[in-house]
Amino acid sequence: MEADRPTVVIIGGGFSGTMLAAELARKGLASTLIEGRGRAGEGTAFSTDEKAHLLNVPAGRMGAWADQPGHFASEVAREGYEPHEFVPRKRYGEYLRKILNDAAASGQVRIVQQDAVAAERAGDGWEVRLADGSRVAGHALALAQGNQAPQALPYARGIDEKFFVNDPWSEEGRAAIVRAAATGGDVLLIGTGLTMVDMVLTLDEVRLRGRMTAVSRRGQAPRAHADHGSAPVTQEEVPHGSLRKAWRWLLNRGAAVGWRAAVDSLRPHSQALWQSWSASEQRRFMRHARPWWDVHRHRIAPEVGGRIKRLVQIGRLEIVAGQVTDMWVKGNKLDVSIKRRGKKAADDHGFALAINCTGPLGAISQSKDSLLRSLFEAGLARPDALDIGLEVDGHSRVLGAGKAWALGPLTKGRYWEITAVPDIRGQVAAVADDIAKEMGHAVQS
Ligand SMILES: Cc1cc2nc3c(=O)[nH]c(=O)nc-3n(C[C@H](O)[C@H](O)[C@H](O)COP(=O)(O)OP(=O)(O)OC[C@H]3O[C@@H](n4cnc5c(N)ncnc54)[C@H](O)[C@@H]3O)c2cc1C
Repeated sequence: MEADRPTVVIIGGGFSGTMLAAELARKGLASTLIEGRGRAGEGTAFSTDEKAHLLNVPAGRMGAWADQPGHFASEVAREGYEPHEFVPRKRYGEYLRKILNDAAASGQVRIVQQDAVAAERAGDGWEVRLADGSRVAGHALALAQGNQAPQALPYARGIDEKFFVNDPWSEEGRAAIVRAAATGGDVLLIGTGLTMVDMVLTLDEVRLRGRMTAVSRRGQAPRAHADHGSAPVTQEEVPHGSLRKAWRWLLNRGAAVGWRAAVDSLRPHSQALWQSWSASEQRRFMRHARPWWDVHRHRIAPEVGGRIKRLVQIGRLEIVAGQVTDMWVKGNKLDVSIKRRGKKAADDHGFALAINCTGPLGAISQSKDSLLRSLFEAGLARPDALDIGLEVDGHSRVLGAGKAWALGPLTKGRYWEITAVPDIRGQVAAVADDIAKEMGHAVQS
């Protein structure tokens, strides 16, 4: 073991890993946080430099500590932000980094800037191998690698990355977007969700002269937040156990109190609702209801919604219901066949760049993360029944591993709504308690 005192090795320095390290430090427990992309204390969501990228949750709900949901709002109040306002994500990254730096200054957190490439059991604990060949040992392991990079699109195979960005969140992806904007050509966004919104804002900020086309099967873009009354419901009022009944309930409730209030009223119950469905119902939800749910549940800041609307109105952005069927490079541009919904044939269009905005990888068994692969191969972790995350128990312990936990989007098979800060912070606090118990520490509350 690295030291005599119990240490938790945390893989990933996004919100989940950062806050686990901070929660453990508060309990007097040591951790080593391993972050591979230089994003310790920021992760994927909060490492953007783009000021136009706003949080999609109001400041008042973005406190990082489970026992202080108003913590972030009080931090930014002195900068003039009100709790109902949407603060730049970059500012949230600074907030998280400060929490991590404070935890590191306490002597409880060691930050290692390296890719973790494998993990194996060593005695009663764990040993993690890093990209430079060195090893880090710990008594427990916490997996907080976040979402996996998007799936490669079959028609984009072999297309030079000058013309096609598969992972818009990678450093290479971010650089390619800025480079393409300078060419003045049109840009294609494949997918019309939150990633598309971010990319449109970035392209608009870097003054793309060309037009943007965003395409998805249904052409549904995220809705914007707007003031609405709240209409809370108790768990007993929501029909559990049947997707069809829950869906009918949601539509009826939406008609009575407005869709925003109806969707929001499910927030405290969504994990229990998800867990009340069989795996085949969960699959049915993902296939049929998810596109609607995602754009209504994960809403964007009103100012962002207004900007997207304006770009559509002035013809700089077109949101298309349809499908990309093929693409190929011709001279200095990318030709793309797009079949619009309701049309028999596809039309070809030329673009300077296409960006994969379809969101994170669906099938975790296909992950290229070599640490995850090492766990799968050794039988120390396995995909959940839907293959969207790791199989974990009700304490977020990785099944098959022993003394290993998973956090955040890696656990969406069990919890489904484990994407936004208000959901993840509760999980992080519960996991910190569980780890403290496992390590024989009295839980300080
Ligand atoms: C663009 C975007 C905007 C969002 N906006 C909001 C918002 O406004 N409000 C909100 O509440 N939620 C928001 N979310 C959702 C949510 O906050 C994030 O999903 C959450 O931060 C997840 O954190 P995470 O730490 O689990 O994952 P991530 O943030 O993805 O962090 C994982 C980290 O692990 C590192 N890593 C991965 N594999 C390895 C490895 N093998 N070795 C070492 N390091 C590794 C990565 O480099 C990364 O830094 C947003 C998400 C995204 C993607």
